[in-house]
Amino acid sequence: MSEHVAFDSVVVRFGGELWLKKTWTRRRYVRCLIENMKRVLKRYNVEYSEVMRRRGRLFLKTKEAAEAASRLSRVFGISSVSPALEIGSSKLEDVVDKCVFLASHALDEGNSFAVRCRRVGEHPYSSRDVCREVGRRVLDEFGEEKGLSVNLKRPDMVLGVEVRDNEAFAFSEVVKGVGGMPLGTQGRVVCLLSGGVDSAVAGWLVMKRGCPLVPLYFDCKPYTDEITTERAVEIAKVLCDWAVGFPRRLHVVPYGHVLGAIVKNCPRRLTCLLCKRMMYRVAEVLVDQVRAEGIVTGEAIGEQASQTLRNLRVLDRAAEKYPVHRPILGFDKAETEGLARKIEAYKITARSVQGCKAVPHKPATKAKLEETVEAEAKLNIDEMVEHCVRELRVVDL
Ligand code: ATP
Ligand code: MG
Repeated sequence: MSEHVAFDSVVVRFGGELWLKKTWTRRRYVRCLIENMKRVLKRYNVEYSEVMRRRGRLFLKTKEAAEAASRLSRVFGISSVSPALEIGSSKLEDVVDKCVFLASHALDEGNSFAVRCRRVGEHPYSSRDVCREVGRRVLDEFGEEKGLSVNLKRPDMVLGVEVRDNEAFAFSEVVKGVGGMPLGTQGRVVCLLSGGVDSAVAGWLVMKRGCPLVPLYFDCKPYTDEITTERAVEIAKVLCDWAVGFPRRLHVVPYGHVLGAIVKNCPRRLTCLLCKRMMYRVAEVLVDQVRAEGIVTGEAIGEQASQTLRNLRVLDRAAEKYPVHRPILGFDKAETEGLARKIEAYKITARSVQGCKAVPHKPATKAKLEETVEAEAKLNIDEMVEHCVRELRVVDL
């Protein structure tokens, strides 16, 4: 199998969506992508000598190609990667020789295979010539001995070649990347991170679209337990692992006193709504402080009593300056959990914690804005928000 081949480079393909952008936007995105790739390689001590930009592809020169490919497949903006062999020329004989060499290692007994070639630049041969010639020589040289056959529709193994002007690369594996847009190509967002599965996935989804996160956790002790806080810290770390090179921080607000005042002074059926409205207000101050563009939460329609469409309306009115984005609004729980597994957050979110003790037996599912505002009149909102902002601490992760 292909482990025996000493790959010396990685072919990096970036998202189809980048091609829809105007040239200068695309250039900026690709620059940002390269920066993020370098940060990941540095963080994981993957040595490389060069990242080459060649007409719609990036090629990384490294002796640790498998490790590099695996790390890079988790960089936002990359659609796929392949550990590859560099072919120092684009002469047909050289390209074919290298492909046949790779095939001799990569193809197992009885495999069917296909050769696919992508070529950019002027060459005295066509892509089909490359495919035909490699296929012919593979069959001639060891086809019979290994029982190989060509299958263009559903091959066991695809041998790939990328020819770029006077360079070329051969590969036998395509590792799917995470996709999305390079992190940092969009503005920052403050993400209300509870340590639960929904906000973890919501935050990840906006990161995937290029937005660096400023995670904000409200510590509701004594209404919640210490494990809830630990879980939020662990989740923040997981999300930071997807954002190598960006600040590893969690903003924490001691929030028990706010929740206490709400429980004590306001109708119990409104507790969760009032609690969340205060969170939004504090989040807005942080948005200002860190010059972010909005707030992200893990709310999904009907997922909790506080998340009926009617209640979301009431929540929204608490945020005065900035939009509240809800990336998983239409997700089923199973979809959210599936994504949480993929981003390696699920195990942490599934840690059992004591639920919030302030949640009432009968929460309002159709709250009215007027009754909510009326209930809040019993609280000194401005002072509570100020107090929260004063107490906010930044935890380095
Ligand atoms: P999650 O799985 O993210 O905890 P949930 O379905 O349990 O969400 P709620 O507890 O009603 O729903 O919270 C809705 C959203 O409000 C969360 O997704 C999160 O964005 C935010 N949120 C809730 N509690 C906190 C908290 N303690 N700190 C920060 N944000 C919170
Ligand atoms: Mg929750």
